[in-house]
Amino acid sequence: MGMFCSIIRFENLYELKRLCHWGPIIALSVIAICSAMAIIDAVLWYWPLDTTGGSINFIMLINWTIMILYNYFNAMFVGPGYVPIGWKPENAQDSMYLQYCKICQSYKAPRSHHCRKCNRCVMKMDHHCPWINNCCGFQNHASFTLFLLLAPLGCIHAAFIFVMTMYTQLYNRVSFGWSSVKIDMSAARRDPRPIIPFELSAFAASLFALGLALGTTLAVGMLFVIQMKIILRNKTSIESWIEEKAKDRIQYYQTKEVFVFPYDLGSKWDNFKQVFTWSGNPDGDGLEWPIREGCHQYSLTIEQLKQKADKRVRSVRYQAIEDYNGAFCPVTKGVRTFCTTPCTEEPRIALHKGDHILATRGLN
Ligand SMILES: [Zn+2]
Ligand SMILES: [Zn+2]
Repeated sequence: MGMFCSIIRFENLYELKRLCHWGPIIALSVIAICSAMAIIDAVLWYWPLDTTGGSINFIMLINWTIMILYNYFNAMFVGPGYVPIGWKPENAQDSMYLQYCKICQSYKAPRSHHCRKCNRCVMKMDHHCPWINNCCGFQNHASFTLFLLLAPLGCIHAAFIFVMTMYTQLYNRVSFGWSSVKIDMSAARRDPRPIIPFELSAFAASLFALGLALGTTLAVGMLFVIQMKIILRNKTSIESWIEEKAKDRIQYYQTKEVFVFPYDLGSKWDNFKQVFTWSGNPDGDGLEWPIREGCHQYSLTIEQLKQKADKRVRSVRYQAIEDYNGAFCPVTKGVRTFCTTPCTEEPRIALHKGDHILATRGLN
């Protein structure tokens, strides 16, 4: 039941504005094209009304579409969950282990990060996903990952239908002429057959949908594997990165510290159950986390504070020597600058001559 409650939890239609963004528009278009073409082709190839196989094929197809959309909209509209404005740890002394977010006017709870796009501190933030135009975090980690699993599965089924339809249609045309189909090569033998013309345009559309389906299977399937790997270690993408930096920092300063990631409960199944539950709601409140033995509730946030202090020490002060308007691909600053576009989605910063900025370099 919880699964159904969670989708109704979005309080108002205001959230629908999330749909007006290139990510959801493209993602939903791909889902619509693949589903519609798969349904049309399924009807042509394996008529669903008379045979058991055809019915199962058709019902499975509809089922994929419903489950994919359900998890997609759940991930988008339920959202990651935010740290309450003004939040502070129960024990006031513990706030020394936490960073403070000036925008949210609250301490950053363990595992939370401030998302500039959402403009809130996001609980157990994984990343801001443009495809759902929302953050992936505590509350929608499961539905997001389920979407990443179901989309490739649905696409594989659809791709199979596209190939079979094109094959049977092409076989019929080559054998018996393009003008009429005399013999039924489809999996279902039935009589009478609905006459639906499969023209060149339908063939091209099936081929296009096949390309979309295979591309989606590869791209989204890879994301699913990455996501599953970190979930089984009870990590987020950001935390993998923090762990990397922790190792670098310890090596750089030769401090003999041993950094142990505190949220990995030691068993893959226990880690899995933290994200995936029968109720559809993740375990816990998103602010306090179960930790492995020998670790501290604030082990990770203390490491983050150390990294932040370290970053400040190693930052270099630069002075801007000319004005810069912050354009993504600046035309006036020479070929080198034009070609080295930043790899992040962060904007370039506009500067005026004489401005000072602090730049940090990597450790190596
Ligand atoms: Zn914040
Ligand atoms: Zn975000």
